[in-house]
Amino acid sequence: MENNQPKIGVIGVGHLGQHHVKHLVEMDNLSFSGIYDKNKARSEEIASTYRVKSFYSLEKLIDKSDGLTIVTPTADHFHTALECIQKGKSVFIEKPISHSVQSADSLLSAAEENNVFIQVGHIERFNPALLAVKDCQLNPKFIEVQRLAPYTSRGTDVPVVLDLMTHDIDILLSFVDSGVKSVAATGLSIMTDSVDIAHARIRFENGTVASLTSSRIAKDKVRKIKLFQKNMYVTIDMLLNLTEVYQVVNKDSTHTELTAPLNYKGTQKEIVYKKPTVLHNDALKMELENFADSLRGNSTPAVTGISGRNVLAIAEQIHDLILEDLH
Ligand code: NAD
Repeated sequence: MENNQPKIGVIGVGHLGQHHVKHLVEMDNLSFSGIYDKNKARSEEIASTYRVKSFYSLEKLIDKSDGLTIVTPTADHFHTALECIQKGKSVFIEKPISHSVQSADSLLSAAEENNVFIQVGHIERFNPALLAVKDCQLNPKFIEVQRLAPYTSRGTDVPVVLDLMTHDIDILLSFVDSGVKSVAATGLSIMTDSVDIAHARIRFENGTVASLTSSRIAKDKVRKIKLFQKNMYVTIDMLLNLTEVYQVVNKDSTHTELTAPLNYKGTQKEIVYKKPTVLHNDALKMELENFADSLRGNSTPAVTGISGRNVLAIAEQIHDLILEDLH
């Protein structure tokens, strides 16, 4: 790596990969090595739009790079990532890390052997509405998450649990510092041969319970999280970028926030309403900056390969339970 400026390439420049290219070419302190897509026409189109080099051989792009982002369909993550890792290159793999826990474990072992790191593109960790709750002292006891999307053919190569619910499992694991005690799940196939709607109930060892609903058969997009804990209720709308906090506090005339009386057994408490500032950061840009910084050795990945693997293990468990329930 020259002058601590990592050379970064992108593998797979479809719907999402083109945005990786767009952000990376604009970033300072790195050198964009080029792109590779097995669809040559697509590769050339993106190369011409962003004035970058399109490689005709994956091997050559890997040789010219210090780190690679892998934005191919999920089924291809494993082989592509393994090839990069075995050539001693760190990788940013779009979510989910791979198609199976077994293959994710093989990637983790290969990364350790080759002394490289894996970052996973669980982009919601950088969602500004979620980042806005960082000062809220959260210790949620009940969490409700809804992620609904109108049907598109993209992402349907994998069941909805792997495509959409993995985002929310990752968010959940970042909120709850406890092992999973039990999982119950149900789901249905509606438009595809695979599961399109899924509901999971996860109980953690510390008593926290989460209810997750993911669907790719919806009229409107919904991405909402509700967190409940003693004296606090937080709602996060990841589409509207709106975070709201309702907190029960002792009555105090010096409060500057909006308050409402708590009409409960003559209590001397009131409800304070807060709207934490939500910054308008681009989450994809932030996670790619995190990757570049980790390659420079100035940071570590916010979502490690192990985190991505643990998300996938729960997703796999949920999906297996749904299949059991259906048959
Ligand atoms: P896409 O089908 O639009 O693009 C995939 C591209 O990869 C295509 O151009 C295809 O030609 C190319 N490709 C396929 N196999 C390849 C291979 N072996 N080598 C090189 N190129 C190959 O898919 P997409 O919607 O961009 O999704 C790509 C990945 O990103 C998936 O894993 C998906 O789950 C993930 N994704 C993540 C988010 C997020 O919010 N983080 C959103 C969308 C997609």
